[in-house]
Amino acid sequence: MENLDKIIALCKSRGFIFPGSEIYGGLANTWDYGPLGVELKNNIKAAWWQYFVRECKNSVGLDGGILMNPSVWVASGHVGGFSDPLMDCKACKTRHRADNLINNFQKTQKTKNPIDPDTLSVNQMEEFVATNKVPCPHCAKQDWTGIRQFNLMFKTNRGVVEDSASVVYLRPETAQSQFVNFTNLQRTSRLKIPFGVGQIGKAFRNEITPGNFTFRTIEFEQMEYQHFTTDEKSLDDYHMFKTKAMEFYIDRVGLRKENLRFKDHATLCHYAKAAVDAEFLFPFGFGEIGGTHHRGTHDLGSHQKCSCKSCEYVDPSTGDRFIPTVVESSHGCDRILLAVLCDAYNEEEIAKDDIRVVLKIKPSIAPYKVAVLPLQKKGLTNKSDELFAQLSKNFSTTYDDAGSIGKRYRRQDEIGTPFCVTIDYETLEDNAVTIRHRDSMKQERVKIKDLTTTIQKYLV
Ligand SMILES: [Zn+2]
Repeated sequence: MENLDKIIALCKSRGFIFPGSEIYGGLANTWDYGPLGVELKNNIKAAWWQYFVRECKNSVGLDGGILMNPSVWVASGHVGGFSDPLMDCKACKTRHRADNLINNFQKTQKTKNPIDPDTLSVNQMEEFVATNKVPCPHCAKQDWTGIRQFNLMFKTNRGVVEDSASVVYLRPETAQSQFVNFTNLQRTSRLKIPFGVGQIGKAFRNEITPGNFTFRTIEFEQMEYQHFTTDEKSLDDYHMFKTKAMEFYIDRVGLRKENLRFKDHATLCHYAKAAVDAEFLFPFGFGEIGGTHHRGTHDLGSHQKCSCKSCEYVDPSTGDRFIPTVVESSHGCDRILLAVLCDAYNEEEIAKDDIRVVLKIKPSIAPYKVAVLPLQKKGLTNKSDELFAQLSKNFSTTYDDAGSIGKRYRRQDEIGTPFCVTIDYETLEDNAVTIRHRDSMKQERVKIKDLTTTIQKYLV
């Protein structure tokens, strides 16, 4: 966890991530992405869109609204079933998830063959807590209320009247937009099954569990791809998307393979044939960053039933009508960003008592690609401005003329800038600059006219 504390401090001091509304004492589990955070996040989203939507012949995109007709959430099961079982400690007034209490209790007791609370009913969970005298983790007393089901959706009211007819929810996942628009998407794009629809957007969950920095937040960004296929092909497609997810994390985001693993779901929904999480090894242990889910015909079938509108697909060659099977590839943007920071964070001893902090972020994902650094302040401003103008047309570029060149290199290392370009008096005569590489710290002299193509070549 030591590294996580260092990463949190670095994020705040260098402008990746700030605590939400900090001057008012913050708001639990909310964060704001600063100048570097927004660049990094945009790069991750662009890489995902490129890989899942643009490089796939039978893929299109969607940007659905956050607010949807509340019937959507009845059909999806979120109104009825998307809840946490919560118990209050009467002694210290803290609130806890019953499933977490049971799991943690069994861990501390080193119970052999522990019971999975997901398999217990509400009554059985209450009974477990009572008969085992499970103590409050906060005050150690054993004085619990009964379990109340606490829906995780944020509820609000539209218009001025607060009645049941005006209730709307902030979406708890982006996926439903792809499902309710299935017919619109298929007809307008004239897509034949199998095809898929990608979407990136915000989702909201009213969670009480505290979060390990940005790992668990109440507002977060999802990158979700819904693949519509036939029942016969669906398991093959599931395995294809499982592989594709790992390729995205490793080849496009730059996460190290040894820090990633798959974890099959312990229990499957009744409609699903398979489901797996992709997990990354954070400083606090393995945590989910995405998942591949076989969803059967559950989503479209349920919307067809509740809306009384057809969600069927008509096969143009055979005329067969059927409800497509869905394979979902879902990814948490904020969690992947946190994984990138944890994976990239390095402390290197480059001389005795000289530690350099360097974020070895994959260059194509890094917030800034290039830093323009005039070696001296006098007489180099015009040339440096010219160079910034040239480079910033192609790369996210930053400029720094304050302090010694060594200090400026270190500042760029700390934020993961892969290339520093130094201008000196010689530049004015030979029209060449020095590129300094972040990871190797090697330097090379390059003609300004070749600079853009040289950096492009290194940007993978
Ligand atoms: Zn208590």
